[in-house]
Amino acid sequence: MHALRFALTLLAFGLISAAAFAKPVTEADLRKHVEILASDEFEGRGPGTEGERKTLAYLESQWAKAGLKPGARDGSWYQPVELVRRGPKQANVQFFSKGDKLRIVSDDILLVGKEAQFKSSGLPALFVGHGVDAQGKVIADVRSKLVFLLTDDADYLPAEMKSARNRRNALDEAGAAAVVMVSGEQFDFPVYRRLILSRPVSWVPKDRKGNVEGVVSPQYMVALVTAAGGDWDKLRAAARTPDYAGQSLGLSVNLDVESDVERISSNNIIGKFAGRKPGSGAVVFMGHWDHFGICRPEGDEDRICNGAVDNASGMAVLTEVAKRLGRAKFDRDIYFVGTTAEEAGLIGARAFAADPAVPLNQIKIVLNVDTVAIAPKGAKVAIIGRGKTDLDAEVEAVARKLKRKIEPSTDANSFLQRQDGWALTEKNVPALMVGGSFADLGKLEAFLKTDYHGPNDEVVDTLQLGGAAEDADLHVELGRYFADSRKYKPKKAEKGTGE
Ligand SMILES: [Zn+2]
Repeated sequence: MHALRFALTLLAFGLISAAAFAKPVTEADLRKHVEILASDEFEGRGPGTEGERKTLAYLESQWAKAGLKPGARDGSWYQPVELVRRGPKQANVQFFSKGDKLRIVSDDILLVGKEAQFKSSGLPALFVGHGVDAQGKVIADVRSKLVFLLTDDADYLPAEMKSARNRRNALDEAGAAAVVMVSGEQFDFPVYRRLILSRPVSWVPKDRKGNVEGVVSPQYMVALVTAAGGDWDKLRAAARTPDYAGQSLGLSVNLDVESDVERISSNNIIGKFAGRKPGSGAVVFMGHWDHFGICRPEGDEDRICNGAVDNASGMAVLTEVAKRLGRAKFDRDIYFVGTTAEEAGLIGARAFAADPAVPLNQIKIVLNVDTVAIAPKGAKVAIIGRGKTDLDAEVEAVARKLKRKIEPSTDANSFLQRQDGWALTEKNVPALMVGGSFADLGKLEAFLKTDYHGPNDEVVDTLQLGGAAEDADLHVELGRYFADSRKYKPKKAEKGTGE
């Protein structure tokens, strides 16, 4: 009682702000949101589904209650994000050698078209080894051919072409009619098959160019090349040199590929607290609202990937942080961004970075919140992005004020590219993930190896929200600090150029 009266006196004299009275975030506060967002009724929050509609309606109502105003560029709550989902339906592949139909004794082949129907006959088949030279250029003549590409790495490949996907894109751009990847040691055929059958989502502005893409196993290549009178091992060995320009397989192929192609209109949700000092910059809180939706086939007992930890927990934290920050006014604008399609590769965050609600060079800090229901109370504070900005010392000072201990290592940076903040880091905007979940990587790995991205990441009695509640309080304080132009003064040479 005394303490409260004393505080009210200070408030009356304007010595401390109303936000200082923001009640600590409790586990119950967070659990209430997680139970709704990760309920079966929300169907696992798949982009473009009824689950998206319910999720965004819930967040909009909660964020409006917190005092947030619509923050998207068009004055609404929503930034549209156009997606396309593709999966294989039926494919007929027929190889011919000197006019004779070949019989291949393997069905380790999966093809997906850019459009629902793709039909072409008499395509020459070309093996291109690793696909590019030491400069990352396509040197084989791949135009209007079906191309087989090794997914495995080669010593000579430049860094950006270590990724088989980037090499496939280069072949598509060079005019290949179809690019079929030969699975290898890094990712074997079952891994690719699972990926393709999961009907992955792409962002329309970055959609692929090629008409058909696919994957085959090395066993399939042995069968195919042998049937054509060749030797797969020799062919493969010849491709180890950087100047390999491809080898015709002496085959032509007829393709008839039917695919499931679904265009999806999804959304980022964006709310804003307008600052008192326009032009003094912005603080951006971010978290992905999406998860995998109905992720298991009909007949399975539990078909919904509810994403309680990943990332209903993060949206719960953002919502409670907004409710507390909404009690006071700050110098800088504060944005809350709920991104879509993080699970498909940070797509919503990339869409925000490409067409931001606030110019990127105005953003003083992005604080991403993802997968926070891991650590118990008392966890140390780790920073994903440690050493990448000049903000670590200030973030740590805010955490210490709350009696949090600091995890000094950079181990959590192994997750740097696996979280939405990366889409901003890539554009030189200071973006961090701060909290306890990434301080004890043993606990995090235990989750990643079990319930992660499966139907068991759901609301259970043992859901750990102790650390998340402390992280929520920490984010309230971080918001108050970085939105205050007297407290946080960016260094002269700002890193966030947005260029
Ligand atoms: Zn995830």
